[in-house]
Amino acid sequence: MMKHKPLASLSLDLDNKWSYMKTHADPGWESFPSYLDIFVPRVLDFLEKYGLKITFFIVGQDAILEKNHAAIQSIADAGHEIGTHSFNHEPWLHLYSEQEFEDDLTRAEEHIVRVTGKNPIGFRGPGYSLSSTVLRVLLRHGYQYDASTLPTFLGPLARAYYYMTTKLSPEEKESRKLLYGKLRDGFQPLRPYRWQINGEEEKIVEVPVTTMPIFRLPFHVSYILYISRFSPILARLYFRLALGLCRLTRTTPSLLLHPLDFLGCDDIDELAFFPAMDLTSEQKIKLVGEVLDIYGEQYKVEPLREHVRAFLQEKTISASKPKFRTIENEQTP
Ligand SMILES: [Zn+2]
Repeated sequence: MMKHKPLASLSLDLDNKWSYMKTHADPGWESFPSYLDIFVPRVLDFLEKYGLKITFFIVGQDAILEKNHAAIQSIADAGHEIGTHSFNHEPWLHLYSEQEFEDDLTRAEEHIVRVTGKNPIGFRGPGYSLSSTVLRVLLRHGYQYDASTLPTFLGPLARAYYYMTTKLSPEEKESRKLLYGKLRDGFQPLRPYRWQINGEEEKIVEVPVTTMPIFRLPFHVSYILYISRFSPILARLYFRLALGLCRLTRTTPSLLLHPLDFLGCDDIDELAFFPAMDLTSEQKIKLVGEVLDIYGEQYKVEPLREHVRAFLQEKTISASKPKFRTIENEQTP
């Protein structure tokens, strides 16, 4: 065993049943059907067994509803970091005006803070959506980091799949054409950095969702589950290869989980359109456990706030100039 394991982070986007139905344009989402009462106790048990503390990104629309309060509160009580995942969970959030996003974020925070008693310092946009407008508002609200970028070339492919499997009108498709990013997103940095917005150095740190260095293919747990449908051996090899490339390129990985990594066809049948939903929850949890065993063998796994702290500290010690990136306003395509 290694003496000093390098740090890596782990987070979970608490996407609820209704948000998948909404994105998929399925009727019935308007009553906000929830699986948090099943999912949250299950994932908290799992994380406790693995001795992990992670970051949960919570959707404001779930925090506002009484039926979800106990589940959301139990996440904070278990000592996990609480982050904001917007109020309405709309993957086209990067097209919002400044006022629209200001309203969405204020409302999300109000209810997340009320239920959890924690002040979020981290944000993740739904569907990896981000704009300079979003960053400016986050900065005003005192956020220390954003974790909404997925540096992959697969974005346009994901969008094609989304269009194929949803019941959107041509007008809706047009309004969502920037969904899942552009091809050039694949060239974004993999390591954390600080944003430079409108030519000024800003305090906000970006922690990208790590994709496989060089190849820029996603390797978060949902992808590993998807590959395991074809070959479980290949799935584990793919994950090990991704981590190996992270070490080679000295990239600190930030891995991502979703509720559907723990929920199977035995739990919900409305989401059958989602990849790997033909697996049972037991099969999925076993594989997620194997993946996190590999992750934990190689890294000390922490919530995102620790990842950000380590990044800022490293910059102080080395006294080197922190890295910044400029973002142009991407509101207009
Ligand atoms: Zn989400």
